[in-house]
Amino acid sequence: MNRRDFLKFGVGVSVGFVGGRSIASNNSSRLLDTIIAESYAGYSSNTYYSESQNTHIELPSLTEDLSCDVCVVGGGLTGVSTALKLAERGYKVVLLEAQNIAGQASGMNGGQVLTAYECGMEYFEDKFGDKIAKQLWSLSLQAIDIVKSNIKNYNINCSWQSGTGIAAYKKKHFADLQEEYEIMTEKYGYTQVELYDKQQTRTLIGSDKYYGLLYDRFAGHIHPLNYALGLSQICKQKAQMFTNSRVTEIKFKQAGGLHHLTVNGKHQVKAKFVVLACNYQNSLFAPELAYKVVKFDTYVMATESLSPSLAHEILPNRMAIFDTRNVMNYYRLTEQNNLIFGGGDTFGKPDVPQVQKSLYNDLINTFPQLAGVKVKNFWYGADSMTLNLAPNFGRLYNTVYYAQGYSGQGLALSNLAGQIIADAIIGQSEKFDIFAAIKPLEITNIGVVQQAFVKMGSYYFRMKDYIE
Ligand SMILES: Cc1cc2nc3c(=O)[nH]c(=O)nc-3n(C[C@H](O)[C@H](O)[C@H](O)COP(=O)(O)OP(=O)(O)OC[C@H]3O[C@@H](n4cnc5c(N)ncnc54)[C@H](O)[C@@H]3O)c2cc1C
Repeated sequence: MNRRDFLKFGVGVSVGFVGGRSIASNNSSRLLDTIIAESYAGYSSNTYYSESQNTHIELPSLTEDLSCDVCVVGGGLTGVSTALKLAERGYKVVLLEAQNIAGQASGMNGGQVLTAYECGMEYFEDKFGDKIAKQLWSLSLQAIDIVKSNIKNYNINCSWQSGTGIAAYKKKHFADLQEEYEIMTEKYGYTQVELYDKQQTRTLIGSDKYYGLLYDRFAGHIHPLNYALGLSQICKQKAQMFTNSRVTEIKFKQAGGLHHLTVNGKHQVKAKFVVLACNYQNSLFAPELAYKVVKFDTYVMATESLSPSLAHEILPNRMAIFDTRNVMNYYRLTEQNNLIFGGGDTFGKPDVPQVQKSLYNDLINTFPQLAGVKVKNFWYGADSMTLNLAPNFGRLYNTVYYAQGYSGQGLALSNLAGQIIADAIIGQSEKFDIFAAIKPLEITNIGVVQQAFVKMGSYYFRMKDYIE
């Protein structure tokens, strides 16, 4: 069963692949508990990135009323990249961020800049046919190109490292990777991937866990906060950006077709266009969006800096990895040899000590040679996912745009979203319309029912990871 197959299971269970995984009982010895407790001793709940950021951005909060062409709500990568692209084309842009720029998912993620989409290309082929699927494929490559060219053109120091890999966690998952490889190379003509068997994989990942690897040399990984802040430094020269400026209300389409936004309950911004870039919080302004995405939390630890020899032993070519399980782990080395190791995703209120144990257990199950390594940072953050795992873009009132539901794969896609929302506002909406045609499976927005669906799916896929 691969991640595509589970789409066929329908709404109720399809969200569960990100459900949390608990510690395998055979590992839950007292010794293990002691190792884990000692490893977390003195850890920081700041993100690794905030403790290693190479730039700081000073921005005011809004203290007056303003008018503009485009008001962007949210200062993550979706918001900043949209604002930048429009401001570069001469639009008067105001960006309003409730807290800090890139203070949420965009500045605390796993750093993996990935090819394609969480739903897999087969989903688009089935829904829209090969022609549109090929366009979506090339747009996903464009997303990575945008990140690379931003780094180059704006001279952003964010430690780009080429190479990502999908590691087969079970023997039969290798067949799925083989199929994926054939689709990518033969159907999409992609020449940047290699398929490695178990033995070859062992030379590229210092773990006995995997049965094969799909390596992608075009994708890569970065320090996401340094990237987002670097991009924001450029953006702030061209757009008006405000932090600690929470949009508390939007009255759409008032006199003259303008949208009226209230900020911090006090000040007004009037705009011809609005871009909602608040991730899972967009529904505050458009309740219908709550039916389209579900919020989930995902967890990350950064280990202490590993010795060069240990770092080389576990990831000799320094690629970023995620595995093929429904409830996966993702990891990569930083420039300073800290291992950023994530996973254990949950819905609803997390049991943090339990997740910490589970994540450390995953770490040493993957790399027994790391048992006892200290955790320097442990943090978690939220992202939005759709039930079909495809991104959700759309338009409201003709002049309000939104992009959300990147389903854990938004580091590259948020940059693409910025580019194509800007194009659409300028009047070139072909690319935006391709995404807007992908309709998410909708569920009730009644919190309690959503949680029940999510929990069912969560348990289902957690069980499948063990049983299959
Ligand atoms: C821990 C973690 C690991 C991840 N790992 C990866 C990975 O390795 N690779 C990958 O591709 N993706 C990853 N993702 C997903 C990726 O980070 C997100 O999909 C992407 O950053 C979403 O960007 P965004 O700008 O849409 O949202 P966000 O970055 O969440 O930004 C939304 C912003 O809107 C602001 N906001 C909300 N409400 C208001 C309001 N009322 N007024 C003003 N501002 C408001 C928020 O404060 C926030 O700053 C991960 C996510 C997390 C949380």
